[in-house]
Amino acid sequence: MMHAAALSARSTALHRAAFVADGHADTLGRFYFMGGSFTEPAPGQQIDLERLRQGGVGLQVMACCPVWGKLAPGTRRTCARAVFNMIDILHRELDAYPDLRLVTDAAGLERLVEARRSGEQPVGLVLGIEGGEALEGDLALLRTFHRLGVRLVTLTHNFRNELADGAYEESPGGLTRFGRQVVEEMNRLGVVIDVSHLAPAGFWQVLELSSAPVVASHSNARALCGHRRNLTDEQAEALAAKGGVVGVTFCPLFLREAPDDQHPLPASLSDVLDQIDYLVNLVGPDHVALGSDFDGIDTVPRGLEDVSRLPALTRGLLERGHSEEAIRGILGENLLRIFRAVWR
Ligand SMILES: [Zn+2]
Repeated sequence: MMHAAALSARSTALHRAAFVADGHADTLGRFYFMGGSFTEPAPGQQIDLERLRQGGVGLQVMACCPVWGKLAPGTRRTCARAVFNMIDILHRELDAYPDLRLVTDAAGLERLVEARRSGEQPVGLVLGIEGGEALEGDLALLRTFHRLGVRLVTLTHNFRNELADGAYEESPGGLTRFGRQVVEEMNRLGVVIDVSHLAPAGFWQVLELSSAPVVASHSNARALCGHRRNLTDEQAEALAAKGGVVGVTFCPLFLREAPDDQHPLPASLSDVLDQIDYLVNLVGPDHVALGSDFDGIDTVPRGLEDVSRLPALTRGLLERGHSEEAIRGILGENLLRIFRAVWR
């Protein structure tokens, strides 16, 4: 056991030197549905510019989720517009705060990494869409979102859409014909495919069909928490075999098995560390990443209450005996590897 003071110093230095990237946050949806901004956070907001800095975050994926919970009948046609509005909010925030940078290609990523290495503190944002409902069954919308900077799409949210079935559907099916076209077009454009939320049949079809590595941006291991949103060992192994990553999520429902979704059990940093330990043992440290789901969750793990608390995760990983190289991978480099491989 390392001396506490030595551990603290080593952990602080490691976290500061690492490039920290988080694969999933719902901050833009929060801004759109509930207000707030990167400099004037609303009550309950878990990410803002100041706390991104405190958390040492270099890159944050900002998902635009047009469906929070099940869609009410008749609202489907507004999904694209909700995402366009979130993208508009993002661009207004980017205009207002030069320290925020939209990252859309490998060259931009390298500039960001270089700037942070030289002591500047820009925070890169990657634009994502969570829920293919936003495409409204039209590949032209996928291409248009791509032109606006979208570089990651989570194919489904919890339920069925034009692409596939989400994991909350009873007796879910796989990809539709349109879903297959979307996968092929995302491969062609260089948009990262995200299979979090997707039901198993679609998951396996995507892995078969995609020519590029695939991520599960915010999903945990079902072996530790038996929720249908979590991945079986076979799924995690297949993602890794294809070069992808599993982003460990901080959502308490996916950390500790609860009687139902309305009654999450209290979770803590140590549950997140358990998930990372388990997945590292299963698929290796190169295929595990972070997918906090901050600003998409109402309850948070004790010790990881918002993005500013991420240094505690690094300390916990050191305490559990992970190598510094493994920790740098989990904290961000694994996700960067995917972006470099997929983006054009
Ligand atoms: Zn989600």
